[in-house]
Amino acid sequence: MPVTIKTPARDEKIAVVGAGLGGAVMAILLQQAGFDVDVYEQAPGFSRLGAGIHVGPNVMKILRRIGIEEPLEAIGSHPDFWFSRDWATGDYMSRIPLGAFARRNYGAAYLTVHRGDFHALLERAIAPGTLHFGKELRDVKDSGSDVHLSFADGSHATASIVIGADGVDSKIREVLLGVEAPTYSGWVGHRAVFPSAGLKFREQYEPCVKWWSEDRHMMVYYVTRAQDEIYYVTGVPEPWEHGISSVPSSKEEMREAFAGYHPLVQGLIDATVEVSKWPLLERNPLPLWSRGRLVLLGDACHPMKPHMAQGAAMAIEDAAILARCIEACGVGAYDTAFDLYKANRFERASKVQKVSHDNTWLRYDEDPAWCFGYDAYDAPLQDAPTE
Ligand code: FAD
Repeated sequence: MPVTIKTPARDEKIAVVGAGLGGAVMAILLQQAGFDVDVYEQAPGFSRLGAGIHVGPNVMKILRRIGIEEPLEAIGSHPDFWFSRDWATGDYMSRIPLGAFARRNYGAAYLTVHRGDFHALLERAIAPGTLHFGKELRDVKDSGSDVHLSFADGSHATASIVIGADGVDSKIREVLLGVEAPTYSGWVGHRAVFPSAGLKFREQYEPCVKWWSEDRHMMVYYVTRAQDEIYYVTGVPEPWEHGISSVPSSKEEMREAFAGYHPLVQGLIDATVEVSKWPLLERNPLPLWSRGRLVLLGDACHPMKPHMAQGAAMAIEDAAILARCIEACGVGAYDTAFDLYKANRFERASKVQKVSHDNTWLRYDEDPAWCFGYDAYDAPLQDAPTE
């Protein structure tokens, strides 16, 4: 269905800081609702980094509203099941139906896709001329009547409200709550994307499978509809001394970390072209999601271990609920809108943080309907509690 872009409903400017998956969807939803939005992103541009991502039906229903569902379906892999398997024997621990079952029961498809391809679709849907690269936010001052933003390149901007979608090391979170580095969870995630043609027993690889042992795991899935690229992401306990950046890893390191794992896992390691290693970072649920004209979403607000594959999904759901609250209350009543937003997001985002932390999701057969069946535009907005 074509999306109608309305003329700006009000002349107040909304600034979104960070054009990751959450910030991009936030900007698109608000722009399509007729708001005047600028997006400030520190990166000089985006490239196709080596990572995949699960996009569940809860996210696909939001993407439907902004015209991205169809193009994403056209490029993503469509697994019929999520399998969990024992690291050594290969025995099946769970078999979660997706595919046609997901469409029927959760209202949209379940995809796995290359993160860069997904991001590129979103980038193209942001209104031309409103995404500003090379804008690293250095300072933000809420005067009471507007907000002044200062960037590392010496430029400035003013906005009526500012949405901090600036990730795990958020500057806006720092302004609200003070300097505090995110917590290293004790686990790293290795990430590798490579052509599936390099796999020795290619026909034996299921489209979406997680291999589990007691203290580590490897999640494996295709990232293209043609299933010609495959991705793995791990969780492995080890000390970390590299701050919040990723570092290169190697096949040797992978062989050591997954010694004794099933031959299909060894086959993935053998076919690996490049592999990197990321610290898995988290925070406890934040007591404060907004103050004055500043509000947080996504990893800026509730970073989590990626073990439910729902971190970006929560950022995108945040964007949908925040857009609804701003539309319902208006930019002028930002304080009411932000209270309503937190009231409708805190419990769900915190629950997903907790399950992700525990790394129990779909290990054994369970009903994922509470997560995948959620529709951020259909859910009634609950009133914010009164003081
Ligand atoms: P980000 O994607 O981090 O975007 C923040 C943006 O803000 C960046 O573009 C950054 O450059 C910019 N920025 C930062 N600081 C500034 C500044 N000062 N000024 C201007 N711009 C700034 N989630 C899923 O839903 N499914 C998955 O399968 C999945 N797999 C994952 C696997 C791994 C190994 C990891 C680590 C995470 C995974 N996640 C997954 C989680 C997901 O990546 C994050 O939750 C998601 O990216 C959060 O989106 P965001 O928009 O809040 O933040």
